[in-house]
Amino acid sequence: MPDRSPPGDRPPDRARTSQGGARLLLTRLRAMMAQQATGADRLAAVVELVANTMVADVCSIYLRADDNTLLLVATEGLKAEAVGRTRLAENEGLVGLVCSSARPLRITDAFAHPRFSYRPETGEDPFNSFLGVPILRAGGALGVLVVQNRTERVYDDEEVEALQTIAMVLAELVGILGDAVMVGVRPTRPLELHGRTLNEGLAIGSAHLHDPVLSAARLFAADVDEEQARLAAAMRQLRESIDAMLTRAGPVLFGESRDVLETYRLFAHDPSWEARLTDAVRSGLSAEAAVDRVRREHRARLGSARDGLLRERLHDLEDLDNRLLRHLSGGGDEQAPVPPGSILVASRLGPAELLDYRDAHLAGVVLEETGAGSHAAIVARAMGVPAIGGLEGLVNGVEPGDRLMVDAEAGIVNIRPEAERVESFRARQLLKDEQLTELARLRDEPARTIDGVDCELMINAGLSFDLDHLDAVGASGVGLFRTEFQFMASETMPGLDEQTRFYASVMDRADGRPVTFRTIDLGGDKVAPFMGRRDREENPALGWRALRMALDHPYFFRRQLRALTRAAAGRTLRVMFPMVATVDEFEEARSLLDAEIEWTLKFGRSAPARVLVGAMVETPSLAFSIDHLKGKADFLSVGTNDLMQFFFAADRENTRVWGRYDLLSRPALVLLDRMVQRAGDAGVPISVCGEAAGRPIEALTLLALGYRSLSMSAARLPLIKQTIRSTDLSRLAPTVHDLLRDGGAPFRTEISRVCQQLAIKI
Ligand code: PEP
Ligand code: MG
Repeated sequence: MPDRSPPGDRPPDRARTSQGGARLLLTRLRAMMAQQATGADRLAAVVELVANTMVADVCSIYLRADDNTLLLVATEGLKAEAVGRTRLAENEGLVGLVCSSARPLRITDAFAHPRFSYRPETGEDPFNSFLGVPILRAGGALGVLVVQNRTERVYDDEEVEALQTIAMVLAELVGILGDAVMVGVRPTRPLELHGRTLNEGLAIGSAHLHDPVLSAARLFAADVDEEQARLAAAMRQLRESIDAMLTRAGPVLFGESRDVLETYRLFAHDPSWEARLTDAVRSGLSAEAAVDRVRREHRARLGSARDGLLRERLHDLEDLDNRLLRHLSGGGDEQAPVPPGSILVASRLGPAELLDYRDAHLAGVVLEETGAGSHAAIVARAMGVPAIGGLEGLVNGVEPGDRLMVDAEAGIVNIRPEAERVESFRARQLLKDEQLTELARLRDEPARTIDGVDCELMINAGLSFDLDHLDAVGASGVGLFRTEFQFMASETMPGLDEQTRFYASVMDRADGRPVTFRTIDLGGDKVAPFMGRRDREENPALGWRALRMALDHPYFFRRQLRALTRAAAGRTLRVMFPMVATVDEFEEARSLLDAEIEWTLKFGRSAPARVLVGAMVETPSLAFSIDHLKGKADFLSVGTNDLMQFFFAADRENTRVWGRYDLLSRPALVLLDRMVQRAGDAGVPISVCGEAAGRPIEALTLLALGYRSLSMSAARLPLIKQTIRSTDLSRLAPTVHDLLRDGGAPFRTEISRVCQQLAIKI
């Protein structure tokens, strides 16, 4: 568990006896802030106050400027001319060290320190002792607050603590003072960040921060005892809510999941966490400010932590800080209301957290981390919200209410964009809307090529509101229903009845159109909250996941198969298994389903009228076993996302490699061609449900190879229909086959050229 103790590991009770200095400082600071003054004067007053109260010869504030240098913005004790002039590189000197490590630093002989950097213009030669603390904001250091003494002085823990408290107030002060004073310091200029599109679209709106934001008005406590009581009450509520979560979790799927929740509870009951918060409140901060201070420290450490496990733990701690803040605001575990049309900003979001916003009418979602991207992406798609992940520096760069422009086509976010950019962006949005209206007209038209070839276009789904799209885009059914999604969105494992109700409601809403349920595909990077964090696998995508996990947990797997069987009573049940690697695995899974159906009949329950069982072809080994599935599988569906990652040995989640290989290349197309032929020979219908099915040139190539059924995210379907309707397949297919036979030319370029020649809309 990461260390939560303050520098020097001061035991909590000693600290409690010595809060006078910090409180005195805070009381004076509050009085000072109540006075009218310009921003620069306020900062000057702060350094003077600190220097006097701490009997320091120097007190200075350095803030991070737009160019990442550390600018001296106020000083008591150094030469006044140095203010606004002295700039240190990000990593330069002791100040740079405090900033980059985001941790306090105290030194009695500053000159002897290898990182000491001498700046003659400040006149700092005679100062020996140094104490610097980071001024922490959302996810990192905004600057550094420093005190120095001529003599070799040992700053005690209480002084470090007091200075950290002042630094926290300063962080808020800088926020409040805003642009007027902090010209060139605070990041108010436009910022452009590049990430990875999770769901396409264009959006513009005001930033809403997922993590609770501390109101600047609530920095100080009016009455320390009352504040202690508020903190204690919120702490109690938080613990009760976590205990309740643990009780509710009941029987869980995996042994270690309970351990993980228990660890979470341990964090919540950790006395050193409470001691830190109590100390901060005793020193005069409000309970919210105290929590916020601790949260900043956790975040700053998260920013520099490389170890994955430590990061997970720090995320847990930060999550607890956030929950406690919500309890303090009286909102329990609830989120603050979100103005409609907002862009949600978060460091990372689990699918369940994003689902909490389903009624918030978000305009977009932007995330700093991609880790949970694939899950959040699926929810974002279901919600129809443009989304981008992997935006490094996002949380630090955005203030609540900032205008954000989300180009989830190019994967770019503009923070506080210039007016001209906004204008041209709006024009693009308008054009896009027109195109969408145009595409919507095709809703009831068949997906038929010019030469009369009919194609079946289905949607991929995973949440109940995905089903709304069926009618909206005129799909023939659901080609892939990702059942794991219900599990990922749920704190506890859905029981038999809950699963049954859900599957039945999906079929009801599909209203007779086929729905292919894929059995649970968890593991790898898809983790349900109740699973906990399992042992880390070296290669999770190749590890214990999907059908492998299900077959190793027949009790749990059969529960899902039973729910599907019950839900489909009197109707056609279509089930397929993910990540099948061998024919034996498929047969084993199928026999479990057969057993469930037998069981249903034996107990006099109504069974499905018809059962069709298929396999996803997403491992090369199964792609080469299609002929052996003859008479065993009722249908096949090619999962190009996984198949291609295994085929090219390139992790689909790894941004450094995922764009390196192309499905539109000879080896991949030879494989896909072979698969469709073998499936045809074996008389097993085959479709494609990976992302490739929703991309025009890929979709056309698949049609040219002989695939006739494609399943894709609903947003892509109208576009693909338009492409198909403008295609003469009898003219395109020979080109694709020639290319396949002769090789040579780059496929993508060549097919695009032919499409242009044939006036195909791509
Ligand atoms: C695939 O792998 O192509 C697929 C459709 O499944 P998922 O993206 O859910 O792994
Ligand atoms: Mg897959």
